Amino acid sequence: MIKISQLHKYYHTGNQPLHVLKGIDLSISEGELVSIMGSSGSGKSTLLNILGMLDAYDEGEYSLDGVLIKDLSEKKAANYRNKFLGFVFQSFNLINYKTAQENVAMPLYYQGVKRKKRNELAMQYLEKVGLSDWAHHLPSQLSGGQKQRVAIARALITQPKVLLADEPTGALDTDTSYEVMDLFKEIHAEGMTVVIVTHENDIADMTERIIRLKDGLVVRGAESTVNAE
Ligand code: ATP
Ligand code: MG
Repeated sequence: MIKISQLHKYYHTGNQPLHVLKGIDLSISEGELVSIMGSSGSGKSTLLNILGMLDAYDEGEYSLDGVLIKDLSEKKAANYRNKFLGFVFQSFNLINYKTAQENVAMPLYYQGVKRKKRNELAMQYLEKVGLSDWAHHLPSQLSGGQKQRVAIARALITQPKVLLADEPTGALDTDTSYEVMDLFKEIHAEGMTVVIVTHENDIADMTERIIRLKDGLVVRGAESTVNAE
Protein backbone atom coordinates (compact mmCIF):
# COMPACT_ATOMS: atom_id res chain seq x y z
CA MET A 1 0.00 0.00 0.00
CA ILE A 2 2.76 2.41 1.05
CA LYS A 3 6.34 2.22 -0.20
CA ILE A 4 8.95 4.81 0.60
CA SER A 5 12.58 4.65 -0.43
CA GLN A 6 15.49 6.92 0.35
CA LEU A 7 13.21 9.78 1.25
CA HIS A 8 14.75 13.07 2.36
CA LYS A 9 13.06 16.15 3.78
CA TYR A 10 14.59 19.53 4.59
CA TYR A 11 12.96 22.54 6.21
CA HIS A 12 14.22 25.85 4.90
CA THR A 13 12.85 28.26 7.49
CA GLY A 14 16.04 28.98 9.51
CA ASN A 15 19.48 30.22 8.48
CA GLN A 16 20.52 26.75 7.52
CA PRO A 17 18.37 24.02 5.97
CA LEU A 18 17.22 21.53 8.61
CA HIS A 19 17.66 17.97 7.35
CA VAL A 20 14.80 16.18 9.13
CA LEU A 21 14.36 12.94 7.19
CA LYS A 22 17.66 11.51 6.00
CA GLY A 23 16.87 8.61 3.73
CA ILE A 24 13.76 6.88 5.01
CA ASP A 25 13.00 3.40 3.72
CA LEU A 26 9.61 2.12 4.76
CA SER A 27 6.86 -0.16 3.57
CA ILE A 28 3.36 -0.64 4.93
CA SER A 29 1.06 -3.28 3.53
CA GLU A 30 -2.64 -3.06 2.93
CA GLY A 31 -4.56 -3.77 6.13
CA GLU A 32 -1.67 -3.26 8.54
CA LEU A 33 -2.01 -1.42 11.86
CA VAL A 34 1.34 0.24 12.59
CA SER A 35 2.67 2.89 14.92
CA ILE A 36 5.46 5.40 14.44
CA MET A 37 7.51 6.25 17.52
CA GLY A 38 10.55 8.41 18.19
CA SER A 39 11.60 11.25 20.45
CA SER A 40 10.14 14.73 20.14
CA GLY A 41 11.52 16.39 17.02
CA SER A 42 12.55 13.12 15.41
CA GLY A 43 10.30 13.80 12.41
CA LYS A 44 7.23 11.68 13.13
CA SER A 45 4.71 14.34 12.16
CA THR A 46 6.82 15.34 9.17
CA LEU A 47 6.80 11.75 7.94
CA LEU A 48 3.06 11.35 8.58
CA ASN A 49 2.32 14.59 6.72
CA ILE A 50 4.34 13.35 3.77
CA LEU A 51 2.51 10.00 3.87
CA GLY A 52 -0.71 12.01 3.91
CA MET A 53 0.37 14.10 0.92
CA LEU A 54 -0.01 17.21 3.07
CA ASP A 55 3.66 18.08 2.76
CA ALA A 56 6.30 17.82 0.04
CA TYR A 57 9.62 15.97 0.23
CA ASP A 58 12.94 16.74 -1.40
CA GLU A 59 14.39 13.43 -2.56
CA GLY A 60 13.40 9.81 -2.84
CA GLU A 61 10.30 7.93 -3.90
CA TYR A 62 6.87 7.54 -2.38
CA SER A 63 4.30 5.28 -3.95
CA LEU A 64 0.79 4.89 -2.60
CA ASP A 65 -1.29 1.99 -3.90
CA GLY A 66 1.17 1.61 -6.78
CA VAL A 67 1.08 5.26 -7.87
CA LEU A 68 4.22 7.40 -7.69
CA ILE A 69 3.14 10.55 -5.86
CA LYS A 70 5.81 12.70 -7.49
CA ASP A 71 4.29 12.10 -10.92
CA LEU A 72 0.85 13.49 -10.01
CA SER A 73 -0.18 17.01 -10.94
CA GLU A 74 -1.32 19.20 -8.04
CA LYS A 75 -4.97 18.65 -8.90
CA LYS A 76 -4.59 14.90 -9.33
CA ALA A 77 -2.68 14.76 -6.05
CA ALA A 78 -5.51 16.55 -4.23
CA ASN A 79 -8.09 14.16 -5.68
CA TYR A 80 -5.93 11.20 -4.81
CA ARG A 81 -5.48 12.45 -1.25
CA ASN A 82 -9.21 13.00 -0.77
CA LYS A 83 -9.99 9.57 -2.13
CA PHE A 84 -7.34 7.49 -0.38
CA LEU A 85 -6.49 9.15 2.89
CA GLY A 86 -8.24 9.94 6.15
CA PHE A 87 -6.75 12.07 8.93
CA VAL A 88 -7.11 12.14 12.70
CA PHE A 89 -5.30 14.70 14.88
CA GLN A 90 -4.40 15.08 18.54
CA SER A 91 -6.59 18.16 18.98
CA PHE A 92 -9.56 16.66 17.05
CA ASN A 93 -9.87 19.67 14.71
CA LEU A 94 -13.66 19.76 14.92
CA ILE A 95 -15.69 22.80 13.95
CA ASN A 96 -16.99 24.19 17.24
CA TYR A 97 -20.24 25.69 16.02
CA LYS A 98 -21.33 22.58 14.15
CA THR A 99 -22.96 19.51 15.66
CA ALA A 100 -21.29 16.11 15.75
CA GLN A 101 -23.38 15.03 12.79
CA GLU A 102 -22.53 18.17 10.79
CA ASN A 103 -18.84 17.70 11.53
CA VAL A 104 -18.92 14.11 10.35
CA ALA A 105 -20.85 15.09 7.21
CA MET A 106 -18.45 17.93 6.32
CA PRO A 107 -16.12 16.06 3.90
CA LEU A 108 -19.16 15.01 1.87
CA TYR A 109 -20.25 18.63 1.55
CA TYR A 110 -16.97 19.31 -0.25
CA GLN A 111 -17.63 16.33 -2.49
CA GLY A 112 -20.98 17.82 -3.51
CA VAL A 113 -23.10 15.13 -1.85
CA LYS A 114 -26.71 16.28 -1.21
CA ARG A 115 -27.70 17.28 2.32
CA LYS A 116 -30.10 14.38 2.94
CA LYS A 117 -27.57 11.78 1.85
CA ARG A 118 -24.82 13.53 3.84
CA ASN A 119 -26.87 13.47 7.02
CA GLU A 120 -27.86 9.83 6.53
CA LEU A 121 -24.28 8.73 6.05
CA ALA A 122 -23.07 10.86 8.95
CA MET A 123 -25.60 9.10 11.22
CA GLN A 124 -24.34 5.72 10.02
CA TYR A 125 -20.76 6.64 10.85
CA LEU A 126 -21.71 8.12 14.21
CA GLU A 127 -23.43 4.83 14.97
CA LYS A 128 -20.29 2.98 13.96
CA VAL A 129 -18.26 4.90 16.54
CA GLY A 130 -20.98 4.49 19.18
CA LEU A 131 -22.24 8.07 19.21
CA SER A 132 -25.65 8.04 17.53
CA ASP A 133 -27.22 9.54 20.67
CA TRP A 134 -24.85 12.49 20.48
CA ALA A 135 -25.46 13.50 16.87
CA HIS A 136 -27.00 16.87 17.71
CA HIS A 137 -24.49 17.89 20.36
CA LEU A 138 -21.80 20.48 19.81
CA PRO A 139 -18.13 19.52 20.35
CA SER A 140 -18.09 21.59 23.56
CA GLN A 141 -20.77 19.26 24.96
CA LEU A 142 -18.67 16.15 24.31
CA SER A 143 -15.83 14.53 26.26
CA GLY A 144 -12.35 14.28 24.72
CA GLY A 145 -12.88 10.64 23.80
CA GLN A 146 -16.22 11.43 22.22
CA LYS A 147 -14.68 14.28 20.23
CA GLN A 148 -12.01 11.94 18.92
CA ARG A 149 -14.70 9.44 17.93
CA VAL A 150 -16.48 12.18 15.98
CA ALA A 151 -13.17 13.00 14.28
CA ILE A 152 -12.65 9.34 13.43
CA ALA A 153 -16.17 9.08 11.98
CA ARG A 154 -15.43 12.18 9.91
CA ALA A 155 -12.20 10.59 8.64
CA LEU A 156 -14.04 7.39 7.69
CA ILE A 157 -17.00 8.92 5.88
CA THR A 158 -15.07 9.32 2.63
CA GLN A 159 -14.11 5.63 2.82
CA PRO A 160 -10.34 6.13 2.68
CA LYS A 161 -7.94 3.24 2.17
CA VAL A 162 -5.45 4.52 4.74
CA LEU A 163 -6.15 6.23 8.05
CA LEU A 164 -3.33 8.45 9.37
CA ALA A 165 -3.44 9.60 12.98
CA ASP A 166 -0.97 12.00 14.63
CA GLU A 167 -0.96 11.44 18.42
CA PRO A 168 -4.70 10.61 18.41
CA THR A 169 -4.60 9.77 22.13
CA GLY A 170 -2.24 12.60 23.10
CA ALA A 171 -4.99 14.70 24.65
CA LEU A 172 -6.83 11.82 26.33
CA ASP A 173 -6.52 10.10 29.71
CA THR A 174 -5.32 6.50 29.83
CA ASP A 175 -8.68 4.72 29.86
CA THR A 176 -10.09 6.91 27.11
CA SER A 177 -6.91 6.35 25.09
CA TYR A 178 -7.45 2.60 25.26
CA GLU A 179 -11.07 3.01 24.17
CA VAL A 180 -9.99 5.05 21.16
CA MET A 181 -7.31 2.46 20.37
CA ASP A 182 -9.97 -0.27 20.56
CA LEU A 183 -11.91 1.67 17.94
CA PHE A 184 -8.82 1.87 15.70
CA LYS A 185 -8.38 -1.88 16.15
CA GLU A 186 -11.99 -2.49 15.14
CA ILE A 187 -11.54 -0.36 12.04
CA HIS A 188 -8.32 -2.23 11.28
CA ALA A 189 -10.13 -5.56 11.71
CA GLU A 190 -12.49 -4.46 8.95
CA GLY A 191 -9.52 -4.13 6.60
CA MET A 192 -8.34 -0.54 6.97
CA THR A 193 -4.65 0.32 6.83
CA VAL A 194 -3.96 2.42 9.94
CA VAL A 195 -0.82 4.44 10.80
CA ILE A 196 -0.63 5.97 14.27
CA VAL A 197 2.05 8.34 15.53
CA THR A 198 2.45 8.10 19.30
CA HIS A 199 4.79 8.92 22.18
CA GLU A 200 3.35 6.24 24.40
CA ASN A 201 4.74 2.71 24.54
CA ASP A 202 1.50 1.13 25.67
CA ILE A 203 -0.36 2.68 22.74
CA ALA A 204 2.31 1.52 20.28
CA ASP A 205 2.16 -1.96 21.83
CA MET A 206 -1.48 -2.18 20.71
CA THR A 207 -0.39 -2.03 17.06
CA GLU A 208 1.06 -4.85 14.95
CA ARG A 209 4.38 -3.19 14.26
CA ILE A 210 6.36 -0.32 15.73
CA ILE A 211 8.33 1.84 13.31
CA ARG A 212 11.01 3.74 15.22
CA LEU A 213 12.52 6.99 13.97
CA LYS A 214 15.87 8.23 15.18
CA ASP A 215 18.15 10.91 13.80
CA GLY A 216 16.13 11.11 10.60
CA LEU A 217 16.21 7.40 9.88
CA VAL A 218 14.01 4.39 10.56
CA VAL A 219 16.01 2.32 13.02
CA ARG A 220 13.40 -0.36 13.63
CA GLY A 221 10.34 -1.83 11.94
CA ALA A 222 10.92 -0.51 8.41
CA GLU A 223 9.85 -3.70 6.69
CA SER A 224 6.33 -4.94 6.51
CA THR A 225 5.93 -8.44 7.88
CA VAL A 226 3.32 -9.11 5.21
CA ASN A 227 3.98 -8.76 1.51
CA ALA A 228 4.04 -5.04 0.66
CA GLU A 229 2.58 -3.82 -2.64
P1 ATP B 1 6.78 15.78 18.39
O1 ATP B 1 6.90 14.42 19.06
O2 ATP B 1 7.21 16.86 19.30
O3 ATP B 1 5.45 16.00 17.77
P2 ATP B 1 7.88 15.08 15.79
O4 ATP B 1 8.66 13.81 15.87
O5 ATP B 1 6.51 15.00 15.27
O6 ATP B 1 7.91 15.78 17.23
P3 ATP B 1 8.33 17.01 13.68
O7 ATP B 1 7.20 17.89 14.02
O8 ATP B 1 8.20 16.15 12.48
O9 ATP B 1 8.75 16.09 14.92
O10 ATP B 1 9.63 17.95 13.55
C1 ATP B 1 10.89 17.45 13.17
C2 ATP B 1 11.88 18.61 13.17
O11 ATP B 1 11.53 19.52 12.14
C3 ATP B 1 11.90 19.43 14.45
O12 ATP B 1 13.23 19.82 14.68
C4 ATP B 1 11.02 20.60 14.13
O13 ATP B 1 11.41 21.73 14.87
C5 ATP B 1 11.26 20.80 12.65
N1 ATP B 1 10.08 21.33 11.94
C6 ATP B 1 8.85 20.77 11.90
N2 ATP B 1 8.01 21.49 11.13
C7 ATP B 1 8.72 22.53 10.66
C8 ATP B 1 8.44 23.62 9.79
N3 ATP B 1 7.22 23.77 9.26
N4 ATP B 1 9.42 24.51 9.54
C9 ATP B 1 10.65 24.35 10.07
N5 ATP B 1 11.00 23.34 10.87
C10 ATP B 1 10.06 22.43 11.17
MG1 MG C 1 4.64 15.52 16.05
